[in-house]
Amino acid sequence: MGCKEKSVRVEEGEVFLKTIGLIGGMSWESSLEYYRIINETIRLNLGGLHSAQCLMYSVDFQEIERLQHQNNWDELTDIMVNCAYKLKKGGADFIVICTNTMHKMADDIEKRVGLKVLHIADATGKKIIEKGLQKVGLLGTKFTMEEDFYKKVLKEKYNIDVVIPDEKEREIIHDIIFQELCKGVINEVSKEKYKKIIYNLVLKGAEGVVLGCTEIPLLLKQEDVNIPIFDTTTIHAISAVEFALGKL
Ligand code: GLU
Repeated sequence: MGCKEKSVRVEEGEVFLKTIGLIGGMSWESSLEYYRIINETIRLNLGGLHSAQCLMYSVDFQEIERLQHQNNWDELTDIMVNCAYKLKKGGADFIVICTNTMHKMADDIEKRVGLKVLHIADATGKKIIEKGLQKVGLLGTKFTMEEDFYKKVLKEKYNIDVVIPDEKEREIIHDIIFQELCKGVINEVSKEKYKKIIYNLVLKGAEGVVLGCTEIPLLLKQEDVNIPIFDTTTIHAISAVEFALGKL
């Protein structure tokens, strides 16, 4: 999985930069955030008019959402692998999947395409450890909250315990993601519902909360709650730049 870096001229001399391959569109509302944060972080690091060397393959989310809710993960895996191949052909050095949920097939993509997938739960786990927390709440789609693929990375790699909302609350979170946030709808009533659910997670021992869906940070900010939040969109996008710069 060797990366072929390109050299970029900066004031101090030369830096080597990998090309980021983004799989986006899930939803495009959060992919926009990835593109913005990645470019802002490159400028912060390199100055001047520097911006990211990146490619995005953006899918039609209607089709993805239909297959997710039909539990057709084999077809979804083939779609994701195909996207990653196209990015590889286009010159990407590594893959960033711009959604938590679709990390369900991160290992398959990495194996079948032969490019590193920079895992969102891995980047998030590191931040939780940096903050010194041991137990966090997890908000996301039902797939992310209920299945093992995400929590497993936090537990097995970082020994972080994860608590999730109860069934009714999970339903509320999931529906708000698909019916509002992925359509660009930001609703104060929904924000209050999320805050209440986070409060209940604190009662279950959560010391922080992972916003484990890339649209949730559009609704909920650090100032809305009084425990640390982990904004997976920002964490993942910044870690993509750090990896591209050879800092990870
Ligand atoms: N962007 C969301 C996530 O981070 C949900 C969209 C999807 O189902 O992929 O999980």
